[in-house]
Amino acid sequence: MSAEYISDEEKSKMAALFKARKALNRAVRFGKNCFTQLAGLPELHQILRQTCQDYAAKELAPIAAQLDKNHSFPAKQIQELGAMGVLAMEVPENLGGAGMDYLAYSLAVEEISRGCASTGVIVSVNNSLYLGPILKFGTEEQKQQWISPFTTGEKVGCFALSEPGNGSDAGAASTLAHQEGDEWVLNGTKAWITNCWDASAAVVFATTDKSLKHKGISAFLVPMPHPGLSLGKKEDKLGIRASSTANLILEDCRIPLVNLLGQCGMGFKIAMQTLDSGRIGIASQALGIAQAAFDCATDYAQKRIAFGAPIAKLQAIQFKLADMSVAIESARLLTWKAALLRDGKKPYSKAAAMAKLTASEAATFVSHQAIQVLGGMGYVTDMPAERHYRDARITEIYEGTSEIQRLVIANEILKEYQQ
Ligand SMILES: Cc1cc2nc3c(=O)[nH]c(=O)nc-3n(C[C@H](O)[C@H](O)[C@H](O)COP(=O)(O)OP(=O)(O)OC[C@H]3O[C@@H](n4cnc5c(N)ncnc54)[C@H](O)[C@@H]3O)c2cc1C
Repeated sequence: MSAEYISDEEKSKMAALFKARKALNRAVRFGKNCFTQLAGLPELHQILRQTCQDYAAKELAPIAAQLDKNHSFPAKQIQELGAMGVLAMEVPENLGGAGMDYLAYSLAVEEISRGCASTGVIVSVNNSLYLGPILKFGTEEQKQQWISPFTTGEKVGCFALSEPGNGSDAGAASTLAHQEGDEWVLNGTKAWITNCWDASAAVVFATTDKSLKHKGISAFLVPMPHPGLSLGKKEDKLGIRASSTANLILEDCRIPLVNLLGQCGMGFKIAMQTLDSGRIGIASQALGIAQAAFDCATDYAQKRIAFGAPIAKLQAIQFKLADMSVAIESARLLTWKAALLRDGKKPYSKAAAMAKLTASEAATFVSHQAIQVLGGMGYVTDMPAERHYRDARITEIYEGTSEIQRLVIANEILKEYQQ
């Protein structure tokens, strides 16, 4: 993406957004300590939520169907969200980020996904999966080089862990890295990489010592494009079609030794910790999709007349709306709980897995019910319900399938009971 394509009018709009973001940032930090789940969000988190909701309703929801149909990356909107600070919510201001907390991040991703689930995942991957591990494990030099340019929305990053032969079993990575002089040489294929076609850098996981199994995996910072790195075809997906997904192919891809992220052999730990945080982002994306499906169903139920009255008067429809609402609200509380635990520097792996499991299953359930409420109109692209149904499905697969979330939760529970 190049700034040359942005008109003066758009530049001044972005400058205004940037100013608003600064004020918002100060306000959110001020209100951070006031939160209790029973009392609801502090006023200033509500402002952030409203700002993102307004942006999504005005700028994303009207174009989401077109983006989905054409598989188009929303470049202009990503730059606008970058100007608002949404592309780097947790990154401190001195590195160009918004310096906010994870609760604020969750609220932003939910509202953006409510407007467009593809934009939601692009934002989530840049925040949690690309910037997150560099912020946590990077050196000061790496943070300057690999974080700051990725905060404004001009550049986005990606996270390359999965491979054609292993997704859930991430420790079985077959991509290799070896040292030659003052370079690392990477060989292998990473699969399903979100943002791949639009990214300017990747956090890539490769095995530096096979004999150590998952403890022999390391993480690397790879610029894109780069000699020895090529991209596979864009996957033709069921949903989130405006975000690109492709293989990232490494053939004698050489990078400097300083591009190792963390210590040699720390890659698996970096990946697992990154995914713990990422799951809060995907839970928030799922909430946004569920809420959008619910909005659509409730609105339609009040307008659609059958047997002389709006279908919202029918008990069968009311029960559906009630069940949908309960699923969304309970998933939202679990998601906020996970974000708050993380903000409070408390253990949050179990909470994040519970949030992702509940929110993704809620998104699947609610979007399925929304189609039923709409009847025939739920099945055609004239209404957004069918897109929400397609978009919802991925939230049960990436960043750990629902089965893997259940394993994480069960392991944590058993550990707690052993203590
Ligand atoms: C659109 C999309 C975007 C993605 N983006 C990224 C990305 O940006 N970066 C990245 O690295 N990866 C990404 N992925 C990969 C994604 O994380 C994996 O697809 C996911 O982790 C599942 O791995 P798999 O597809 O290999 O399925 P498998 O691991 O082969 O699983 C197949 C089935 O077996 C079940 N299963 C496997 N192991 C167990 C077990 N131990 N217990 C119970 N059930 C089990 C699974 O739950 C699933 O139902 C993306 C995938 C998609 C589809």
